[in-house]
Amino acid sequence: MMKLMEEREKIIEVSEKLHRAGVIQNGQGNISIFNPENGLIAITPSAVPYHERGAEDICVVDLTGDVIEGRWRPTTEMDLHLIFYQNRADVAAVIHTHPPQATVFGVIGDEPLPMILTEAAMAIGGAVPIAPYARPGSLDLAKVTFQAVGAGFTAIMAHHGLIAVGTTIERAFAATTAVEISAATIISARSMGREVHILEMEEVKSLRELYLGYSPQKK
Ligand SMILES: [Zn+2]
Repeated sequence: MMKLMEEREKIIEVSEKLHRAGVIQNGQGNISIFNPENGLIAITPSAVPYHERGAEDICVVDLTGDVIEGRWRPTTEMDLHLIFYQNRADVAAVIHTHPPQATVFGVIGDEPLPMILTEAAMAIGGAVPIAPYARPGSLDLAKVTFQAVGAGFTAIMAHHGLIAVGTTIERAFAATTAVEISAATIISARSMGREVHILEMEEVKSLRELYLGYSPQKK
């Protein structure tokens, strides 16, 4: 019986959704889910293309990064995932992607992604900061990205991509797509020679609270 079967299957499912949303290509991007009951993490392997992965290919590691189960090495960005589980009790899922539109903000580098859509206000709740550049796979990348996310849930990584964390994988996924749709919308507006209007901070806060208080189950 493999450990974290439910989490492994969830990762396969979310990989598919991320690919359909256009934010990962082939082997890019990595995903993890933390199980607080046993302190173990299910995390994508390195160098197995997402469409060739089954649940048995997902690695299981502990909070120090030691492989507990799995036939592959974990993603080379494992430190980027572990740093959140080691330091934030409110994070149980991490999604790192290379979304083409959001990454435009990461190469301009001087403008956090503003909140212009209700969807983003709900899923993220504040402007998305830009984390400074550090080399892929380095501990430095994990540190500067963790620092940029702060108490929030997302950061665009300079010259690289995006990170979204959440209490659940569904929330991290919603944050990922909300960032990419916001970036695409801003780029479209600017290609029309126009500037976007930013949602009022008060409204962003209220929308975020509504989202966090919402339960999909009927009362
Ligand atoms: Zn990456």
